[in-house]
Amino acid sequence: MSDCIFCKIVDNEIPAHKLYEDDLVLAFLDISPITKGHTLVIPKVHQESISALAPEYQARLIDVSSKIGKTFVRTQEYDGFNLHLNNGQCAGQVVPHVHMHVVPRIGTDGFHWNWRSLEYKENQIEVLITKFNEKFTT
Ligand code: AMP
Ligand code: ZN
Repeated sequence: MSDCIFCKIVDNEIPAHKLYEDDLVLAFLDISPITKGHTLVIPKVHQESISALAPEYQARLIDVSSKIGKTFVRTQEYDGFNLHLNNGQCAGQVVPHVHMHVVPRIGTDGFHWNWRSLEYKENQIEVLITKFNEKFTT
């Protein structure tokens, strides 16, 4: 897609610090990292949503993302990593081209996800599961 910043990185029209590339995906350092090493893994085709991505791209995206996380742990600079994907504007997606965040972690890095802990009321769980089952397809 011509005005997509990540497609431009795939096409070498704008620079990026690339860590890995194959026929389906590209990995490069995030320009504004949560931790040093924060990497984005993207498909080499333009899709906004992971749900619209062909299965072989989805599989490669996960496989390469976990290998990049494992590689950072192997450097012995990190103890673990987060894989994080924002799907949709309401979920925090800013760049409308699928991207997995790989965030290398160490206990002292000072970053905390802003989790909260809600509670279900009465039959909310049953209603939720019923609606989910009505719509689920493989
Ligand atoms: P998201 O909020 O999930 O859409 O994340 C978009 C990410 O893309 C942010 O973490 C940005 O720092 C990153 N980003 C935006 N432009 C670039 C770029 N040119 N090179 C590397 N990372 C970028
Ligand atoms: Zn794109």
